Amino acid sequence: MSRFAGRTILVTGAGSGIGREMARQFVEEGGTVYAADLDPGAVPEGSTPLKVDVTDPDSFAAAVDRAVSETGALHVLCNNAGASSTTDVLDCTLEEWERTFAVNSRGVFLGTKLALPHMLAQGDGAIVNTASVAGLVGLKDRAAYCASKGAVIALTRQVAVQYAGTGVRCNCVCPGTVDSPWVGRLLAAADDPERARAGLVARQPMGRLGTPTEVAAAALYLASDAATFITGTELVIDGGLLAG
Ligand code: NAD
Repeated sequence: MSRFAGRTILVTGAGSGIGREMARQFVEEGGTVYAADLDPGAVPEGSTPLKVDVTDPDSFAAAVDRAVSETGALHVLCNNAGASSTTDVLDCTLEEWERTFAVNSRGVFLGTKLALPHMLAQGDGAIVNTASVAGLVGLKDRAAYCASKGAVIALTRQVAVQYAGTGVRCNCVCPGTVDSPWVGRLLAAADDPERARAGLVARQPMGRLGTPTEVAAAALYLASDAATFITGTELVIDGGLLAG
């Protein structure tokens, strides 16, 4: 398939896990891909690596400017970079709350703000935000994380409604537990990593974790012309976890 031939795509958090797989699939499908990350050393072959901190307006603006100046357009923005936080309200420091919101919520706001003028001028654009099931339900020890992902879902809906009919669509994916380096780090920090992994798997109706490939495929669908009547939605990719 070459659904994204002639399309310019910017993916954040493209150096690892889900974002890396999004960038890889966009390249595979013919897109011109700008792969932004704090550490762009491992972005997929065929993409243009960009060192970007999504919390920093100048850094993010430079990435958008580069994509637009080199290709003349920006068709797809995947606001995917995210930060973990594993505390409850009592344990979460103000600094941790603000750091989590800076990456997960402010980063999405900045990317959207920077991409929209180009997409509106083109009359054509798709923004796909990576939220989480944590934005839809309460999870223990994830106060700032749940709240920051809830903000992503709310902003997705607001942007969708604000710009419906302009040719610009805004949606999000809500992954469940995905076997990415992120989850690998959380498990490595557990007292008994193997037991912790077995616990994660046990709560999955399908008896396994998701893969970055499965989440990326959903993001590409939302960004594609197959989804032209879809805006403001959250696509849950969790192997049935929330359904239970
Ligand atoms: P990951 O750790 O494998 O990749 C995240 C990438 O984001 C890293 O390469 C990191 O360098 C980059 N990043 C972090 N802060 C950044 C910043 N300020 N600017 C630019 N890049 C930055 O994690 P992943 O599992 O692929 O997570 C990707 C997204 O998916 C995140 O938004 C996360 O919240 C979300 N998510 C993950 C899971 C899961 O189980 N893995 C579940 C639900 C949602």
